[in-house]
Amino acid sequence: MTRLLTGIGVGLGSAAGPVARMAAAPALPAPRIVADPAAEAAAVRRAVTDVAAELAQRAARATGVAAEVLAAQALMAADPVLADRAVELVEQGTDGAHALSAAYARFRADLQAAGGFFAERVTDLDDLRNRSVARLLGLPTPGLPDPGHPYVLVAEDLAPADTALLDPARVLALVTARGGPTSHTAILAKALGLPAVVGCAEAGSLADGQEVLVHGADGLVEAGPTPQAVRRAATREQHRRERADNVHGPGRTADGHPVALLVNLGASHELAGAAAADAEGVGLFRTEFLYLDRAQAPGREEQTAAYRQVFEAFTGRRVVVRTLDAGADKPLPFASAPDEENPALGIRGLRTSARDPQLLETQLAAVAAAAQGSGAEVWVMAPMVSVPREAAEFAARVRAHGLPVAGAMVEVPAAALRAGRLAEVCDFLSIGTNDLAQYAFAADRTLGSLAELLDPWQPALLDLVAATAGAAAERGRPVGVCGEAASDPALALVLVGLGVTSLSAAPSCLAELRAALAAHTLQDCIELAGLALAAPDAATARSAVLRRIG
Ligand code: PEP
Ligand code: MG
Repeated sequence: MTRLLTGIGVGLGSAAGPVARMAAAPALPAPRIVADPAAEAAAVRRAVTDVAAELAQRAARATGVAAEVLAAQALMAADPVLADRAVELVEQGTDGAHALSAAYARFRADLQAAGGFFAERVTDLDDLRNRSVARLLGLPTPGLPDPGHPYVLVAEDLAPADTALLDPARVLALVTARGGPTSHTAILAKALGLPAVVGCAEAGSLADGQEVLVHGADGLVEAGPTPQAVRRAATREQHRRERADNVHGPGRTADGHPVALLVNLGASHELAGAAAADAEGVGLFRTEFLYLDRAQAPGREEQTAAYRQVFEAFTGRRVVVRTLDAGADKPLPFASAPDEENPALGIRGLRTSARDPQLLETQLAAVAAAAQGSGAEVWVMAPMVSVPREAAEFAARVRAHGLPVAGAMVEVPAAALRAGRLAEVCDFLSIGTNDLAQYAFAADRTLGSLAELLDPWQPALLDLVAATAGAAAERGRPVGVCGEAASDPALALVLVGLGVTSLSAAPSCLAELRAALAAHTLQDCIELAGLALAAPDAATARSAVLRRIG
């Protein structure tokens, strides 16, 4: 019998396949007396060798970044110093699991003390420790599964470090117990073009190998679906793809009103797909990926090289660079204040540059150097702007680096309410609906349990978008939406009706957005926006618009 599980839907499609679960890191059992140190030492060596061999095999099967990361991990795992240290401890009476753990802890401390590139490898070491301990204890291997066939990944949640290894050719869909509509996992699923259900409280009840059908649009997981249900979903998928593939080129409404369609870019491995997308450029280049998992900020040369790669891939097109957005859901040890009680309300986004001006200076210098001669039209914007003074100071700093187009993100309700003043001191605005919803509704964006408040169809959020778009239009400034709201085709029509001039979303979402725009006039969009604004709540707004567009 089919069992239905519900959660928050991400993406538009559906996909069916067998479950492969991501096992949790093993908990260390209580220490025990070692009866046979020689046998214990042999087991420790076997666990370490097996983990290294398994990683090397996975590296050989993987491609691109995943292959590189896995090969480097295999080398680390095979380091004889590590096994020797663990064996030494076993010979002194420590049991294998604790000996391995202690050996890794020492290795970790050494790397951290070495700083720089070495310190950045500590998360890899933690992963290796978990794998080796799990192998020794006969527990399932933690981390991404590798069942040897395409699968639906089921996890408690995904960490940024897992994402580089996700192979979109093998993962059919994602189901996670945690996460909200704008959480890291939801953004990742869209970037990979995968249907997903996040915040699915019952995800833990899905077993390895069990067949499931995941519906991204409805937030539904069918466990044990009927063959007819799988066939119906596959046919719907095919029709959806065919519809979307029929329209190409720049975004236009049916009566020719231009709405630039841009891509969000958040990791270097997304670059090739983003550059190949039928898009007018990048609407949100999340530069944090360069800084993540680091003990110190990357230097100017390293940043310049990374930005140049992106700009050159988009020669002749627009690239909107968002300066470092550290803090809260994107913590960085060197940029975030360590002792804040409410990091989402603390020193984050542009505010970090008041605490450490050099961070922003180095980044702007690198962006300017990379932009030179790249042929891309480089715009630069600041995250988490709250008051016009911040936008004015930021714009002055951007222009001082010879970068002519400076903008502000509208993610804080105060900025939306005073968007006219913001638009007077910079060249464009970009609405980050993920954070704007979080701050407008006082609802942590990472909490699946607050999904109703974080729903981008909330009329109060649309009021803030309308206020921003209206104020920007009065000053003749473009205003985009680059939060997850822009990737919902029906909501995108509403946003355009509210006056938004560009939409930026994951590459996998653009075809549907283009098709939706091409099927409606600007006047249709204005009427749809009126319907949504008049609704008493998000669900009514969504259903009123969906009913009207059929
Ligand atoms: C947003 O807040 O809507 C946004 C686009 O920025 P991020 O999701 O990176 O915080
Ligand atoms: Mg944001």
